[in-house]
Amino acid sequence: MGRLEGKVALVTGGCKGIGRAIVNRFLSEGARVCVADYDNDAGKFEDGSKDGPLVFKADVRKRDEIQSVCDKIVATYGQIDILVNNAGIIRDHLLYKMRTSDWDDVMDVHLKGAFFCSQVVQEYMVKERYGRIINLSSTSALGNKGQANYATAKAGIQGFTKTLALELGKYGITANAIAPGFIETDMTKQTANRLGIDFETLIEASKARIPVGRTGKGEDIANAAVFFAEESSSFVNGQVLYVAGGPKA
Ligand code: NAP
Repeated sequence: MGRLEGKVALVTGGCKGIGRAIVNRFLSEGARVCVADYDNDAGKFEDGSKDGPLVFKADVRKRDEIQSVCDKIVATYGQIDILVNNAGIIRDHLLYKMRTSDWDDVMDVHLKGAFFCSQVVQEYMVKERYGRIINLSSTSALGNKGQANYATAKAGIQGFTKTLALELGKYGITANAIAPGFIETDMTKQTANRLGIDFETLIEASKARIPVGRTGKGEDIANAAVFFAEESSSFVNGQVLYVAGGPKA
C-alpha cells in the first residue's frame, strides 16, 4: 500500500526537474497525479502508461487557466487532496542590472502563481475538510547574490506558507514549504550558463560547500514532499524544511 493511496495531487511545473521527480514519486506512492505546466508536452510523459499523470497546459500566472484545470481534475477524480506549488523561473542579475521585467516575472510565477493555485484549490479542500499544500521555497530565501528577485519571492513563499497554515488548519488542511539547496535541473544549468562555466564545473564547486559531499537530485525533494503530503503528517503545519545536504537557518 502506497503512502498516498487514494489521494489526488496537482503538481505545477511538473513536466521536468523537481516537479517531475515529485510526480513520479507520488505516482509510485499510489496517488493519482495531475500536472499543470506552462509549456507542457504530452511527449514528455510518453513513459507514463494509463496510470501516468494527467497533464494540462496551463500558466500559473493565469487564474482562469488554473480554475479550468482544477475544475477538470475534480470532474475526473472528484477531489484534489494535494497541491504542490512548484512552477518556477529565474531571471538572475545583480541588482544594478536587474530590469523591472526580471523582478515582475519572478514575482508573478512564484508568488502570484502560488496565490492563484492555492486560492482555487483551497475551495475544494475546505469542502472536503482535507488538504495538503506544499510550496517550493529555496535556500536562496536566506539571500543569494544575483537573485534579489528570486530570494525575495522564495522568502515570501515562507510567509505565505505560514499564513495558509494559520488560516486553513481548522479545515484539516496543512501548508508546508520545502527549501531545496542545489538540485541538478535545467534551472541550475541556467545558473551555470549565467556564470559562464559548464554544468559539471558548477556541480563540483557546489559539492565542496555541501556537508554531505554531493549536490541534490529531484528525488531528494520528492522524498520530503511525500512526508508533507501523507495523511499521517496532519500535525506538521507551517514548517519550512531545508533540504540542502546540510544545516541552514
Ligand atoms: P525547472 O527544471 O526549470 O522546472 C520548472 C518547471 O516549471 C518547468 O516545467 C517550467 O515549464 C514550469 N513553469 C515555469 N513557469 C511556469 C508557469 N508560469 N506556469 C506553469 N509552469 C511553469 O526548475 P526546477 O529546478 O525543477 O525548480 C522547481 C522549483 O524548485 C521552482 O520553484 C524552483 O524555484 C525551486 N527550487 C529549485 C532549486 C534548484 O536547485 N533546482 C533550488 C531551490 C528551489 P517550462 O519548462 O515550459 O518553462
